[in-house]
Amino acid sequence: MIRRLGLASLAALALTACSPLADLGSDLGAQLGLDPAPLALTDPLGPSTRGKLLRETRDPEACRAWLANQGVAFTPMADRDEGEFCSVRNAGALGNALGGGATVRLSPARPMMTCELAAAVAVWRAQSVEPAAREILGAGVSSLDHFGVYACRRVNNTTDGRPSAHARAAAIDIGAFRLTNGRRVSVEQDWSGDDPEARFLHRVRTDACRIFGTVLSPDYNAAHANHLHLEGEGGRLCG
Ligand SMILES: [Zn+2]
Repeated sequence: MIRRLGLASLAALALTACSPLADLGSDLGAQLGLDPAPLALTDPLGPSTRGKLLRETRDPEACRAWLANQGVAFTPMADRDEGEFCSVRNAGALGNALGGGATVRLSPARPMMTCELAAAVAVWRAQSVEPAAREILGAGVSSLDHFGVYACRRVNNTTDGRPSAHARAAAIDIGAFRLTNGRRVSVEQDWSGDDPEARFLHRVRTDACRIFGTVLSPDYNAAHANHLHLEGEGGRLCG
């Protein structure tokens, strides 16, 4: 009897727990208490930024339209499957026009990434990287140097770990920022200390946590000593 009651209670709990989740898909914004206004690249970062970004990008077609409306150069690419767990969907090549008339050289150029990652990168550049560089370093950002997006591998390059977000082209590793005054700020060289370069890097990392799903920096582990790992999808890990 106790066992049956227990099961019934569990079932009731499960129903209670699941019903709000079922509604999330149809009205994510309202469920999260979000500002219903659409997200624009000109909007400063706020508590609604991540939720709004998810809302704008969850549908692939709507995501591409959002990027186009914001002036972000994103050229859709064919889906690809490679190896046992590497599968890229809704990806495209991100050009140097990152929205709002801004041109920032991505180096290497035109990295393939998911649409939602491209959108997160565009928001981060517009509302974190550029204003932080101007405020703290006194110059704009002309180039984002990265170590790549797509890599058919598992987390930390192990042979039996879970697939990395890089295996879905859903994460970018940023190594350095080139400024309009010719200076270069790199995660490897400038992360430590309390000088303006370090403060800039910490600022853009912390801001990234309000935009991306997962952000890993040198603070997280030695594997990230020379880059910021920025993941467009999924979880909420900020390290
Ligand atoms: Zn990474």
